[in-house]
Amino acid sequence: MKTITILGSTGSIGLSTLNVVNRHVDQYRVFALTANSQVDRLYDQCLQHKPRYAVMADANAAEQLSERLQSAANDTQVLSGIEGLKEVAAHPDCDYVMAAIVGAAGLLPTLAAVQAGKRVLLANKEALVMSGQLFMDEVAKHGAELLPIDSEHNAVFQCMPDRFNGELAVNGVRKVLLTASGGPFRTTPISELATVTPAQAVAHPNWEMGKKISVDSATMMNKGLEVIEACWLFNANPDQVQVVMHPQSVIHSMVEYADGSILAQLGRPDMRTPIAHALAWPARINSGVESLDLFAVAQLNFEAPDLQRFPCLRLAYEAIKTGGTMSAILNAANEVAVDAFLSGTIAFTNIPRVIETVMQQLEHHPADSLDVILADDAAARSMALNVISGLNPAAPQQVGC
Ligand code: NAD
Ligand code: MG
Repeated sequence: MKTITILGSTGSIGLSTLNVVNRHVDQYRVFALTANSQVDRLYDQCLQHKPRYAVMADANAAEQLSERLQSAANDTQVLSGIEGLKEVAAHPDCDYVMAAIVGAAGLLPTLAAVQAGKRVLLANKEALVMSGQLFMDEVAKHGAELLPIDSEHNAVFQCMPDRFNGELAVNGVRKVLLTASGGPFRTTPISELATVTPAQAVAHPNWEMGKKISVDSATMMNKGLEVIEACWLFNANPDQVQVVMHPQSVIHSMVEYADGSILAQLGRPDMRTPIAHALAWPARINSGVESLDLFAVAQLNFEAPDLQRFPCLRLAYEAIKTGGTMSAILNAANEVAVDAFLSGTIAFTNIPRVIETVMQQLEHHPADSLDVILADDAAARSMALNVISGLNPAAPQQVGC
């Protein structure tokens, strides 16, 4: 029996994780569940899964949850804030940690799990993008078992040799091919992108995800963050990670070998597959995902990405090539710009403008300590807010989704 903490249990990845865990109650027990401020959903999850701990990042929400659980005679202990998140991520009675908080907020709890030597199921790509080398050094130092949940990286992991030791060339790997659907605006006329609404941007053609990653998919910043994530996870340089547009989202990614072979992992676009893979690895368990009907798929298409249409992808390559804290700066500016787009403050096409301006104006540093990374993250957020306040407001549009 393995115990699991799910950081971000009320989100899209959190719900898919609980769905898989529920199918294998003889193998996995929920140890802790966490959320930002969604009291109702975490309350229901506590009644169903009876975890030892529940953590709410927001202190008022934690108080409400605690009162409601006590009235329901539920024994779950409620903690709050970043200290609570770190405690359940590093607790000695927990074996596995699903890192599924969205954004930079996930960095410290995910690092706490790494430093406690857990099996870490990494969905929170922003944590790795921000702290890259430092994160990977901590994984090695504390003997943590890092398993990728992002569907592309999970696919690459599955296509790598069994005993991959972090050396691409020694293992005969020529390059990593990350597939990208292109999101909802792959074929929208570029002249119309300035007026697309948040509701249109989060309507991904193939995947159901949280709002932030959905907007990232529409700008292709998601793929940019994934290029950076792949560089760290597989010890690749940016030129060894190629993005391949593949609108069907059936091939989740590929690895090309020195002999010309390309290995691919295919499946339905359902995150329960990589979640089940990482939970049970190296065994295989039922995820609840049905067989892929290849006759219904019929065709697989591939295109080169268009960097004019998707400047965020170019910016992410620039950030990882620049090195140091530039990836943390890119990530922070993106989080602020996406929030501003979702609240109707800026136009969709201003997202890359904000990020590029911040990257040009802010000095980056060697990313050799958490303090430096967090300081540059904060500086990028405040500069992004400044840049936004100097922009023309978004064209009137329907806000919310
Ligand atoms: P989501 O918005 O649906 O859920 C986010 C979760 O994080 C929620 O439980 C929320 O309560 C919690 N959270 C938000 N802000 C927080 C804060 N400040 N402190 C503590 N908790 C906080 O997001 P999601 O789509 O599940 O994505 C989660 C992570 O997984 C992201 O990093 C995303 O890039 C990655 N990911 C998601 C998918 C997907 O299919 N959804 C696929 C690949 C990778
Ligand atoms: Mg992905």
